[in-house]
Amino acid sequence: MARYTAAVCRLCRRSGEKLMLKGSRCLSPKCALERRSKPPGQQLGRRRRVSDRGLQLREKQKARYTYGMLERQFKLAFRQAERQQGITGDNMLVLLERRLDNVVYRLGFADSRSQARQLVNHGHIMLNGRKTDIPSCLVKEGDTISWKDRSAKTEYYKQLAGTVGSKIVPGWLSLDTENLAGRILSLPTPDAVGAKFDAKTIVEYYSR
Ligand code: SF4
Repeated sequence: MARYTAAVCRLCRRSGEKLMLKGSRCLSPKCALERRSKPPGQQLGRRRRVSDRGLQLREKQKARYTYGMLERQFKLAFRQAERQQGITGDNMLVLLERRLDNVVYRLGFADSRSQARQLVNHGHIMLNGRKTDIPSCLVKEGDTISWKDRSAKTEYYKQLAGTVGSKIVPGWLSLDTENLAGRILSLPTPDAVGAKFDAKTIVEYYSR
């Protein structure tokens, strides 16, 4: 599965916002945006006014970077949201949030979404008792997330067992801190996502 492999801090600097792509490092003084807030690349004096289209693009990119998706995957998710009943922007938020890698991150099993994606890709995570190595897989109400028996013997798992639960888990998920397992209590609502981007602007971007 193709993924973005260049330096992710550039994406924050390009967006002008902390997108929290590197876990705990993002909260430390080592954060690249704290140290160099200017966008990457050569600075050509005064910055030009950004057009409406440019602002829409920026919001779309922010969402895409946040969930670590390539343009093609992101556009497919948008088309899926469009086909669903209801408000497309809200549908999009819920679809992004239902991704398995995001759920693993939200449960606190990983420090960042990219780390969560790696855990899924490497086959450490089970969905409803079955190994699932597809990060884009969408969870549904009642699904359970757990670890493969062999993965529970790793050093990573042992360290995680001592710290899991320190992060706030969203209300639509439940976390069993003893067994390091999660459950989808309900599908997330758009408000529960706490998105740092405007989904309506993304709809405008693709509707042109
Ligand atoms: Fe963004 Fe985190 Fe890098 Fe800071 S450390 S620039 S928040 S990815």
